[in-house]
Amino acid sequence: MANHTREDWKARAAQITFRRQAFIDGKFVDALSGETFDSINPATGEVLAKVAACGAADIDRAVAAGRRAFEDGRWSRMAPGDRKAVLLRLAELIRANLEEMALLDSLDMGKLVTDAATIDAPGSAHFFQWYAEAIDKVYDEVAPTARGDLALVRRVPLGVVGAVVPWNFPLDMATWKSSAALAAGNSVVLKPAEQSPLSALRLAELAAEAGIPDGVFNVVPGYGATAGKALGLHMDVDCLAFTGSTEVGKMFMQYSGQSNLKQVWPETGGKSPNIIFADCGDLDAAADMAAFGIFFNQGEVCSANSRLYVERSIKDALVEKLIARAKAAQPGDPLDPASRMGAIVDEKQTQGILRFIEAGKASANLVAGGERVHVEGKGCFVAPTIFEDVRPDDPLARDEIFGPVLSVIAFDTEEEAIRMANDSIYGLAASVWTDNLSRALRVSEQLHVGTVSVNTVDALSAQTPFGGMKQSGFGRDLSLHSLEKYTALKTTWIKYKI
Ligand code: NAD
Repeated sequence: MANHTREDWKARAAQITFRRQAFIDGKFVDALSGETFDSINPATGEVLAKVAACGAADIDRAVAAGRRAFEDGRWSRMAPGDRKAVLLRLAELIRANLEEMALLDSLDMGKLVTDAATIDAPGSAHFFQWYAEAIDKVYDEVAPTARGDLALVRRVPLGVVGAVVPWNFPLDMATWKSSAALAAGNSVVLKPAEQSPLSALRLAELAAEAGIPDGVFNVVPGYGATAGKALGLHMDVDCLAFTGSTEVGKMFMQYSGQSNLKQVWPETGGKSPNIIFADCGDLDAAADMAAFGIFFNQGEVCSANSRLYVERSIKDALVEKLIARAKAAQPGDPLDPASRMGAIVDEKQTQGILRFIEAGKASANLVAGGERVHVEGKGCFVAPTIFEDVRPDDPLARDEIFGPVLSVIAFDTEEEAIRMANDSIYGLAASVWTDNLSRALRVSEQLHVGTVSVNTVDALSAQTPFGGMKQSGFGRDLSLHSLEKYTALKTTWIKYKI
């Protein structure tokens, strides 16, 4: 794979059979209505597949299958060591089908196939492996009680977990939710984003091949306003794990209140600040990572470092370096290993990004990019774009653009940088660049975000929780903490004779 050319990837892509149906109770099935939606390759405009558009009746089927499986214990009461063995097999199957999984995401939503093959797909295998290995090492508690009483405090699976995920990392978002929820013994009903359902459907098939029993892992493609809403309002879903926009995250909180008070874990939008101090030591490294932080995955990253605060004395030097990096990151065919950036997910998202750019041209100073690009005359591509002298109250600095658009703002003091960084409705992540350890800790402490990366960007691992504060939501994926949201604390009191 390391030596794959564009032609190799294209040839491999031509061999893929897309899974188009919902996966419910261990079988691929059409939507009961027979309706479908088009899965479109944004790099070419080609329709890849007509995928089952699930509605409320399909969600009912999937939830019922999940409930039956949960109640009869075929997975929920399996010994953790046995669940571990199945999930380890799934991790191996993802590795064995790595190229196909990478291609599915690349074709479906435009990301670079080389990124999908080196980051997303191996990441998915790693996260399944991590939770598999963890689940037979998590102990319950015995409470300190008087003699004659034994109080067991156990973490038990919740039942049926609904998961609704976005399109920017289709396989990994599906994995972050389902790996932990399944490891904990739940049944899962996963709704992928309508822009990118293909890898989740293949994942369901691999999960069945690995030995996940029928009904335990169901995938229901469909639109948000129908399938997503039906899952959110369902009376027999115990927990809804959501990743997506803040707007839709708020809807899921309402759905819960309108239905059965299911737990809702929203992981939502971001507008992450990247603060670069003059004492950062290595300005080239800071520029490299600042560019990566906004241009990786076309800027379609919830924690993208889209607000860059730079100390005034180094601003011009840094912006010059960033412009050079933006020029080097021009979009190209996602299947070409030479391309540095892929396609935007669809026409709607492309138009949204271009609207921000056009408005920004009147309010800030455009120094790189600023236009739509066509690759071989087609596709949804946007040039890596940088604005400087952005006003802190400009939409460029406030709104989540979710595209390759960087806003640069100069600061004079540490206090001013912290104040501007915190002046956002979002609080997902932040980066700080300085060689001064006390400053790094002092600034990190004061940033109201879920993750701070010091002298890097977007630091993330299976071992550490990922999630936000403020309107970035309060759900946490990854780490053992993620198991907390997929389990309930259950206390059992036992009297014994002394
Ligand atoms: P989105 O909110 O539009 O959609 C996310 C999911 O919700 C999709 O599956 C969609 O079908 C569903 N949905 C949409 N409308 C719905 C409705 N009315 N009822 C029920 N479900 C509905 O988000 P998106 O455009 O797919 O993804 C981009 C967003 O995701 C960005 O805001 C980004 O920051 C966020 N995101 C957050 C994280 C995180 O961990 N915090 C990670 C990745 C992406």
